[in-house]
Amino acid sequence: MYTFPIQKLNEVETPFYYYNMQLLDDTLNVIKQEAEKYRYHIHYAVKANANKRILERINTYGFGADCVSGNEVLASLDAGFTGSKVVFAGVGKADKEIIIGLENDIACFNVESIPELEVIDEIAGRMSKTAKVALRINPNVKADTHKYITTGLEENKFGINLWDLEKVLDKVEELNNIEFVGIHFHIGSQITDLISFQMLCNRINELQELFVKRRNIPKIINVGGGLGINYENPDKNPMPDFEAFFKVFDEFLELKEGQEVHFELGRSVVGQCGTLLSKVLYIKEGVNTSFAIIDAGMSDLIRPALYQAYHKIENLVSQLEEEKYDVVGPICESSDCFGKAVSLPKTVRGDLMAIRSAGAYGEVMASQYNLRTLPKAVYSDEI
Ligand SMILES: *Cc1c(COP(=O)(O)O)cnc(C)c1O
Repeated sequence: MYTFPIQKLNEVETPFYYYNMQLLDDTLNVIKQEAEKYRYHIHYAVKANANKRILERINTYGFGADCVSGNEVLASLDAGFTGSKVVFAGVGKADKEIIIGLENDIACFNVESIPELEVIDEIAGRMSKTAKVALRINPNVKADTHKYITTGLEENKFGINLWDLEKVLDKVEELNNIEFVGIHFHIGSQITDLISFQMLCNRINELQELFVKRRNIPKIINVGGGLGINYENPDKNPMPDFEAFFKVFDEFLELKEGQEVHFELGRSVVGQCGTLLSKVLYIKEGVNTSFAIIDAGMSDLIRPALYQAYHKIENLVSQLEEEKYDVVGPICESSDCFGKAVSLPKTVRGDLMAIRSAGAYGEVMASQYNLRTLPKAVYSDEI
């Protein structure tokens, strides 16, 4: 059980993100141990949390970094990742971002279209470099998750559709400054039903026939990320079942000789180690419910407002009888609500509240909307 140092946290100015570094270490150790069983390669998806201390800690486990912008590439290098362990994905890479990737000899660009291939080839030629690329293929696999975070369907903007693949491969073989190293997939996020990953494996197996036919076998099969965490019960499930997750790929993915399997895990690495801490400003009696107005808002954690995401909310200090509250922030938007009709022990002004499982897509999405101050970060090993 991972506990909160409540007395110490009570002295810190709220709102802020609290990171349990022990839980992060334990999670990283399990991932390393389970992935090593099959010699799988892990890249951490930086967009989930680009906090420098977290990046530095993840780097010490020997994982690579999966980036979706030039600045994420630079942040990864700054945190100690070597260029040869950085991959760069994204539908809209700007020229200057491509240059950053080439200058730092990154492991691979995950490419999503023919026009992008042509631009990378052109820039690489100018710089006398060869760009290593993996093709991001849209596998048309439906992941049972929120519509804003499913990415592997034909109607999504992501990836190369299956019927275009031969044309894209022709192009890859024709361009002089491009080296084809792999194929890449990412079907969505917060996926808890492993059957979606099994379907992805089956689709990849079918696809491999095309590469065999063309005698151009990709060395890297990058299956992306997407493994979900348990938002309802973070104490009982502080870590996803990585053993079962990797086992699906071992069981269902049929590899050709010399092929490597790469993963890009984001949320499952950092989601549970982060908590947003906030204090109650006011209790306001409504018509049907009471509002607990807290000093954190959607500018600090936008997931509930953006995709109706659920986060468990706890009062860390009250032990009184339970009542129901709508827990809301101070921002001038009705969607600035962390939870409706939440059962909490009787709550008063000044109580310390924890919004759990906020380590992924939390701090990194914070904004200054309403000209608020960006939330600070506090680490369990520094407090
Ligand atoms: C967001 C993203 C990931 C990480 O997804 P998680 O659900 O956080 O594991 C991996 N790969 C790509 C290409 C992504 O865009």
